Amino acid sequence: MRAPLDPPEILLLGPGPSNPHPAVSVAMSAPLVSHLDPFFLTVMEETMTDLRALYQTSNHHTVPISATGTGGLETLMFNLVEPGDEVIVGGIGYFGQRLAELAIAAGGVVRPVEVGWGEVLDPEAIAREFERGPAKVVALVHAETSTGALQPLADIGRIVRENDSLLMVDAVTSLGGVAVDADGWLIDAAGSCSQKCLGAPPGLGPITVGPRAIDAIHHRSVPVASWYFDLRRLFSYWGEEDSSRARVFHHTAPIANIYGFREALRLIHTEGMEARFARHQQAHDLLVAELAEIGLGLFTPETHRAPMLNIVEIPEGVDDASIRGSMLERGIEISGAFGPLAGKAWRIGLMGTNATAPVVSRLVSNLKEVLGR
Ligand SMILES: *Cc1c(COP(=O)(O)O)cnc(C)c1O
Repeated sequence: MRAPLDPPEILLLGPGPSNPHPAVSVAMSAPLVSHLDPFFLTVMEETMTDLRALYQTSNHHTVPISATGTGGLETLMFNLVEPGDEVIVGGIGYFGQRLAELAIAAGGVVRPVEVGWGEVLDPEAIAREFERGPAKVVALVHAETSTGALQPLADIGRIVRENDSLLMVDAVTSLGGVAVDADGWLIDAAGSCSQKCLGAPPGLGPITVGPRAIDAIHHRSVPVASWYFDLRRLFSYWGEEDSSRARVFHHTAPIANIYGFREALRLIHTEGMEARFARHQQAHDLLVAELAEIGLGLFTPETHRAPMLNIVEIPEGVDDASIRGSMLERGIEISGAFGPLAGKAWRIGLMGTNATAPVVSRLVSNLKEVLGR
């Protein structure tokens, strides 16, 4: 007979998922109602309101997509980009390349603007690309999980808007750990996930879509090449701005995931966004200091490090996989790197519930023992 499920308890310090907050797990096992039950419609409303606050936006169209972060980003790309549209994609690492692939999948013509791994884009590089010709969309990654770099966005939004284009941001790793000021930075569309700094399990792709992007979607000349991820259909279920319009069945929302997500958002706003961002920064600063004591440094330049995802350089002569294996035996997951950093760095996430001093100390003391330092 198959034994009941009994997973190991792992401290998840990779690039995501992070450990969900215990209250989120409890919320997910609350009694199920149907996806059109009045109770659930209230839960949807509360979720949208709290997600808008986290994205610092007044965008009505702010909902969790029933898919992981990539599904949310794909939704945005497929709705904003029509076949033949030009898309400027800022590349600062692996996930920028993925945005380019999504744009191509949507039929777009990609114009990459790239910098080396670990670097971030100068807004002027985007301005120069516009001098070569207009583009429908500019797509960028905020926190690049492959390089640990945090792309400043404030000035890019202005340039994109001056050029009558739409700014789409991958905020998958950043949301919930640092400010994502969608309205202040003139972001037209952004997507994130549930399982990194938000502190819920994977399964949802929270997006926000601003009025300029909605306008572009309404003026498409060809239909979106997806039924499930067609935002106009989706918003008829989540609710349009005109609340007199009845919700239309679209799909069976993952009720339990949304219960958990609502709880994660509630916890974020109970803690306070500023306090939460400060906690992520403090955990990062402590990690950097404690790693320095055992002779380990970070790959990403100090000027633009994403606090929730640390690229730690592997010392000469140390075997990447065997150290990660020993850490896992001790119940701690850290991750390897890929691309040019494969075998040369670990990716260590301090996200959501794990961005605390005790977690940092447990990590570093174990790493010290495993490394024999
Ligand atoms: C994790 C990650 C993704 C992928 O998100 P999923 O939820 O795994 O689909 C996309 N972009 C960035 C920057 C990420 O870190």
